[in-house]
Amino acid sequence: MGKSLMNPIIGVIGLGNMGRNMAATLVGKGFSVIGFDLSDTARQQAEKQGIVPANHLDDIARQCSVVILSLPKAEHVEAVCLGDNGLIKQLTSGTIVIDTTTSIPEMSRKIANAFAPQGIEFIDAPVSGGPAGAAAGTMSMVIGGKLDTYHLVLPILEAMSSVRVHVGDVGAGNIAKIANNMLAAAHLITTSEALTLAEKAGVDPSKVLEAINAGSGRSGASQAMFPTWVMNKAYDSGFTMGLMRKDVGLAKALAQNLELNLPMTMKTAELWQQSAAVLPDSDDFCCIAQCTNPSLFAKETK
Ligand code: NAD
Repeated sequence: MGKSLMNPIIGVIGLGNMGRNMAATLVGKGFSVIGFDLSDTARQQAEKQGIVPANHLDDIARQCSVVILSLPKAEHVEAVCLGDNGLIKQLTSGTIVIDTTTSIPEMSRKIANAFAPQGIEFIDAPVSGGPAGAAAGTMSMVIGGKLDTYHLVLPILEAMSSVRVHVGDVGAGNIAKIANNMLAAAHLITTSEALTLAEKAGVDPSKVLEAINAGSGRSGASQAMFPTWVMNKAYDSGFTMGLMRKDVGLAKALAQNLELNLPMTMKTAELWQQSAAVLPDSDDFCCIAQCTNPSLFAKETK
């Protein structure tokens, strides 16, 4: 069967918390999807969600005209795209790669430049909304890449997301995502500090959170993260401490590369880095609140 963008077979590489749910959403909306992950467990879980698992990367390369990546870090994206048996050796001209990984802008540009002579298109399209947004098809996507490539895959992006912002050329999506996550990382800490102020001053922190959410101090942290994962001690967002530490590290590196003096960014990066002494990479990212106030934000003992 020939490859087509009209009725594409979509390959999803990386079937973790995000990729598995994005793939299941596309299956639910009638797309043909095959998925690959290095982990047997991830492949088995994906199969339970209706995704046809591939045993090898080349199965994806052979069959798919659109390939979506959802990998942990830039180094994994580089290995999958440019490694010894990577996509660059296997994909045919006309294939479009959509990288939803929160990655490094220079890596996006490097891969796009390496793919271009072979007629393979690459866009960076990192996402927000967590596994729940991926499962519901309501993620936000920030996209970097050629406008005509973006328009070619728009029906697929629309199936996965409710909001899309085409930010600029390749790499721009990751710059927008890094800026956003630096703010989210900072807001988690500043909101923890605000609620600690309230508690120590003798006022109910959950009432103060309600007040903040009616005032100008509100943010994604106060409106979504604290009510959903912190105040109820659930700490089950599906986004790990390790991945957020990576994102804050990317913001710090970008600021340093540009020789910018951004003290709040640097302090945020320092606090997230220091938290590694008490919070392992596998913990939920919202556990950062515990570094500000271990007793108020302690996990529920089961
Ligand atoms: P995850 O760790 O749950 O999943 C990543 C998957 O990639 C794993 O199953 C892993 O086995 C697989 N993998 C690694 N290297 C591979 C390779 N070479 N070939 C095939 N598979 C490989 O991570 P996640 O939470 O799904 O996040 C994926 C990306 O999305 C990250 O960049 C993250 O920062 C970003 N993100 C996550 C969330 C969230 O809430 N979890 C939200 C927004 C953005």
